[in-house]
Amino acid sequence: MVFGSSYFGTLGRCFGFFRGLLPADPIGQSCPTAAGGVTPSGPPGDGEPGGRGRYHRGMSTVSQLQPSTTPGGGSTFDSLDPATGEVVGTFPVDDDVVVRYTVQRARAAAGWWRDLGFAGRARHLNAYVGEISRRIDELASLIHRENGKPHADAVLEITLVIDHLSWAARNARRVLGPRRVFPGLLAMNNSASVEYQPLGVVGVIGPWNYPVFTPIGSIAYALAAGNAVVFKPSEFTPAIGKWLVDAWASAVPEGWEVLQLVTGSGATGAALCRSGVDKLAFTGSARTGRQVMAACAEGLVPVLMECGGKDALIVDDGADLEAAADAALWGGMSNGGQTCIGIERVYATEAVHDRFVSILTDKARGLHPGTGGDADWGPPTMPSQTEVIRRHLDDAIGHGGRAVVGGPGTVSTGGVGPTILVGVPEHSTAVTEETFGPTLTVTQVRDAEEALAKTNAGEYGLGGAVFARSRARGIELARRMRSGMTSVNSVVTFAFIPGLPFGGVGESGFGRIHGPDGLREFTRPHAITAQRFPLPVNMTSFNRPAVATEVLSRAMKLLHGRR
Ligand code: NDP
Repeated sequence: MVFGSSYFGTLGRCFGFFRGLLPADPIGQSCPTAAGGVTPSGPPGDGEPGGRGRYHRGMSTVSQLQPSTTPGGGSTFDSLDPATGEVVGTFPVDDDVVVRYTVQRARAAAGWWRDLGFAGRARHLNAYVGEISRRIDELASLIHRENGKPHADAVLEITLVIDHLSWAARNARRVLGPRRVFPGLLAMNNSASVEYQPLGVVGVIGPWNYPVFTPIGSIAYALAAGNAVVFKPSEFTPAIGKWLVDAWASAVPEGWEVLQLVTGSGATGAALCRSGVDKLAFTGSARTGRQVMAACAEGLVPVLMECGGKDALIVDDGADLEAAADAALWGGMSNGGQTCIGIERVYATEAVHDRFVSILTDKARGLHPGTGGDADWGPPTMPSQTEVIRRHLDDAIGHGGRAVVGGPGTVSTGGVGPTILVGVPEHSTAVTEETFGPTLTVTQVRDAEEALAKTNAGEYGLGGAVFARSRARGIELARRMRSGMTSVNSVVTFAFIPGLPFGGVGESGFGRIHGPDGLREFTRPHAITAQRFPLPVNMTSFNRPAVATEVLSRAMKLLHGRR
């Protein structure tokens, strides 16, 4: 892993300049932690669970770490390899002053970035794409170490990122550039156009489960739209976040401040919400999302919410059951089930249920977690998630469900084995709450109508999938699924297509990343009219004659009065 020392050299040079922008000498206390800096890895912390309960991981947590001292005196935290507990890197816990300072520095860079225009920005974004592509194996190895997922899955994740960055760079002008609009009868003497202008500085808060794909979903589109970005990765994957920001600095040295990093725990994220950013793009749980919204509301900062999911896969009469079972397993268990758009529930019609479960269980028995090259998924990135998985499995079985593969006994922090549950009632937490483990509930339903009713009864509405005898039948059912994205006869395919919007409804959040909607999400539409010639009668003047109102009134009656 390369941690750019020149990056910090430049950062150090910039400190003096920005000191004057901040309130009375807070910098003296906190700036020296150099947002995003890594100190040499130290020994792991002790083994007690941390203050946030679910946020202890392996041997230490942000909240429990003994504050240690960086060259500037701020506290730090370690990020750990979930498989071994070894320290991957040590990072500053950036406080509100450092966060605000970083945002101010980004704001100064945002003007340069905006003024480059679409072509200039595309050139730099393509240089970033090249940098990531050349170093794909290095990044994949880091993801494997810090997040725990198999190397091959990490490569797939980076591949999607490269595709999204390229698409955003290529399409920003087409989507956001000035567009002429028909001025209509009342303003026919004007030209009218709309253009989508950058917001300024966008704060991005990301989770740990897809530590590259998820934040880049916001970062790529925010940058292509002309914004600077300050990124706060999860406390579980800061080294990956730093890699992404350092790679930007290598690819675009003259514009390194356009994409910057702050690190720490939830408090650092909360500080980013209050730092003066022009928009906050959040990806994480709905619970934290509410806190982010509350903090952003203080400053009327607009938010994008990409929250959790409890996606369903519907298996309809006549579906290809081999393909459906294969997709259900990948959708539910790849990345150990730690996927916001992962399949957690399956509804199979009575005509296909038994055969489907038989194929599914045969295939599931061949899957296993681990850390070796043959493992299908890694250990849980956040070991405390095993408590949630166990609780859901216990609840399912306690309410009459049956584990036909796996069960609570397969849950351990070293790796969670595959579990298939049948006969689980709809009120069980295994059906209603996000489990985030390699588990599937399979429920027999009368027909696709009942499957849709049960799918749509959940509070979440992120993604989903339908397997049906034909594409047309699948699309008909997909349209009626209460979700932001649905794949027919495959799973999660919508995430592979950069031109499609990504986002959910209900507890899954609102707003969209990816595609034209994702680009517009990070802009403000600006309407511009320009008078081409004056009209003989000006209706927006105190000088207009009384008869003009009479003519206007008659014209409206003539044009619209007979509807
Ligand atoms: P969390 O909601 O716990 O955390 C998300 C991010 O918010 C982290 O960076 C976290 O920091 C930060 N954070 C925590 N508290 C605050 C706060 N008070 N103010 C501001 N930021 C804060 O989610 P997880 O990291 O556990 O990620 C898993 C969740 O993310 C799942 O629900 C999953 O479904 C969802 N997700 C949604 C996706 C989507 O596109 N819809 C994609 C991927 C995941 P820290 O980690 O340092 O505490």
